Amino acid sequence: LTRVTDEVRYSIENITETASTLGTPTLRLGVTGLSRAGKTVFITALVHNLIHGGRLPLFEAAAGGRIARAYLEPQPDDNVPRFDVEAHVDTLLKERVWPQSTRQVSELRLTIEFESTHFLSRALGRGKLHLDIVDYPGEWLLDLPLLEKDFRTFSAEALTRAREAGREEVAAAYLAILAETDPGAEADEQQARRLATAYTDYLRACREDERALSMLPPGRFLMPGDLEGSPALTFAPLDLTGHDGTLKPGSLAAMMERRYEAYKKHVVRPFFRDHFARLDRQIVLVDALNALNAGPAALADLEAALAEILSAFRPGKVARIFSIFARRIDRILFAATKADHLNRADHDRLEAILERLVGRAIKRAEYGGAEVDVLALAAIRATREASLTHDGETMPAILGTPLTGERVNGETYDGRTEIALFPGDLPDDPEVLFAADAPASSVRFVRFRPPELQVTAEGVKLSLPHIRLDRALQFLIGDRLA
Ligand code: GDP
Repeated sequence: LTRVTDEVRYSIENITETASTLGTPTLRLGVTGLSRAGKTVFITALVHNLIHGGRLPLFEAAAGGRIARAYLEPQPDDNVPRFDVEAHVDTLLKERVWPQSTRQVSELRLTIEFESTHFLSRALGRGKLHLDIVDYPGEWLLDLPLLEKDFRTFSAEALTRAREAGREEVAAAYLAILAETDPGAEADEQQARRLATAYTDYLRACREDERALSMLPPGRFLMPGDLEGSPALTFAPLDLTGHDGTLKPGSLAAMMERRYEAYKKHVVRPFFRDHFARLDRQIVLVDALNALNAGPAALADLEAALAEILSAFRPGKVARIFSIFARRIDRILFAATKADHLNRADHDRLEAILERLVGRAIKRAEYGGAEVDVLALAAIRATREASLTHDGETMPAILGTPLTGERVNGETYDGRTEIALFPGDLPDDPEVLFAADAPASSVRFVRFRPPELQVTAEGVKLSLPHIRLDRALQFLIGDRLA
């Protein structure tokens, strides 16, 4: 029954959506990435640069002076929170601190009026494009495989992972409670909560401590959105060895199984059906530097998470699971963020590392013609290039203002002092970083304050500085403004 309802609802929505935007072409751009990858900063920078005529030489429509106007309009979906771009711009420019990160799905409509390059289209007047930007946590994409797994399989896989070297230590408290738990015992809400809390704490610790792991489903345990504390999230994997066949009615295991199924039905399915299946293009932001600093285990884990994320984009995958006619995403961009933490000499190397991270998954999967590209960018550039002389040798460096309270070389900064820093170099061959015995990364990660607005080349307009944001825009929407 769910499948039929899904299908009917989806078709009606799709028809309404098409009818309401008839006449003006619409492009739905998904922006995702694991938490703190840089989604909020990316969208804010994109919108600000387009509205205020930022310096975007590699974005053809802007470079050719063909963008007549870009402005915000009410979004088409009334039941989705709006991406609060005005508040984020204020935080960035007035307080010069970074805005609040993505916690749930949100949406924003940017309308772009442009002059076409085609003579015939130009004769018909100005072109217009609705760019609907949909921001959502990458953690939620990691839930797609759960739809094809029952509670037993989910539990077995989660336990294997929790017992892996490198995770076992962090999972100790959860594994200890599990050891004392009899899945066949009578269902008990307090026990369910204890387990769910211990499991969530374990996932969070994997993410937030210096291990910086990525593969941590269920996604909502880390990014609950508006579901915090609800029963659909009060479950945890159990050790079901010795409990073959149907789980005993009324038992803890049966209760956990029911909640897991409810999670899939009421949380995972609606997200994919209502948001994901309607996207035309996608950018996946990746904080490769963070994983790189944590070492080869974190990189391997990030690679696994990206492969999982990529598998969601396989044409037909979502359509098959939901038996709906999903739109096909025809361009996917993987972008390594925060490239401004490195000197320009290292930007291509960062790109090579990301290519290595997603390369295998791209080759393995069938994308049925979807174009996939990889680049390194900084949506907002918080540093400037400089050079430092050390022992008579001149080295490429960066200049920036560390955040208030940030410690660099044993000194705590007040948020007002600019420093020059040699950030370290990335290797020419990314493979070196993936070897099990890879040396600790030498890249130094200092959190800098956002920059002040810069005067554009024309000398009149003020815009947010960036690195390669224009290249990303060209790939994601350039063809629709031709
Ligand atoms: P989200 O969780 O994906 O929404 O991540 P955010 O966009 O909130 O970014 C998380 C943090 O990463 C920010 O608070 C910044 O400190 C940092 N960050 C993100 N993008 C950039 C960038 O382009 N340059 C610099 N220097 N820092 C960035």
